[in-house]
Amino acid sequence: MRVAVVSDIHANYHALEAVLAEVTAEAPDEVWCLGDVVGYGPDPNRCCELVRDCADLCLAGNHDLAVLGRLRLEDFNDDAAAAARWTQSVLSDESRDFLEGLEPRARRADVALVHGSPLDPVWDYVLSEEGARRSLELVSEPLLLVGHSHVALRIRSAGGTLSGGLGVAGDEIDLNSGRWLLNPGSVGQPRAGDPRAAWLLLDLDAGRAWFRRTVYAIASTQAGVRAAGLPEALAVRLALGQ
Ligand code: ZN
Repeated sequence: MRVAVVSDIHANYHALEAVLAEVTAEAPDEVWCLGDVVGYGPDPNRCCELVRDCADLCLAGNHDLAVLGRLRLEDFNDDAAAAARWTQSVLSDESRDFLEGLEPRARRADVALVHGSPLDPVWDYVLSEEGARRSLELVSEPLLLVGHSHVALRIRSAGGTLSGGLGVAGDEIDLNSGRWLLNPGSVGQPRAGDPRAAWLLLDLDAGRAWFRRTVYAIASTQAGVRAAGLPEALAVRLALGQ
C-alpha cells in the first residue's frame, strides 16, 4: 500500500491544494492526515472540506480540539488563541461536524499514528532523541507517525541505538532497517527554515518512505491572513518557514 501523509495544515488552503496536486500525481492508495486541519490560517472551511473529501484517515490536533471548545485557549500562545477564536467565529456546521468526529490517535496497516506523541497524543512534542525513544517504547508497531511540532523528523531505532535527525526534501528511508518514528513536517505552517509545504510518501509494501516538499503561493495565504485580520506574525512566519 502506498500512502501520502500530511499534517498540520492549519487552514492554509493554497499549501494544501498544491500538496494535493502532487499527491494526486503519485496516485497513492490512501491519504492520512495527522491533525491540526485548522488554526492559524484563513481558510478553515475549505481545508476541512478538502481533507474530508480526500483523506482516508484524519486525526484531531490540539488546534482542532481548541476550536471545538474542548481545550482551554489559555493554554495556547496569544496568536494561536486569537486565531482559534477567529476560527470559531467562521467555522461552518459541516466543518464542525467533520472535526467533531476526529480522534488524536489511530492505528492503520500496522502503523501507529498520533498527533503529538504516544505519551500525550494531543499536547506532547517529539523534538528530542529522548522523546523519540520514549515514544517508540510506548507503541508496538514498527512505524510511528507523529505531527504537531511542524518539524520533519526521521528517527531510527535499531539494535538499541537511536539515530537520525531532520527529514530533508528528497530523503529516502529504508523502513526495514529498524523501527522508525517519522514526522512529515507541516503542510500549512512549516518550521525549521524551509517555507515549502512538507509531506511524506510511504510505500509500506516496499518498506520505503520519501520526504517531500511542495512550493505554493505563500503570498496568497499571507493576503488571506491579513484580510481575515489575523495576527500579522502569522503571515510573516509563512515566508520564513518558522
Ligand atoms: Zn500544528
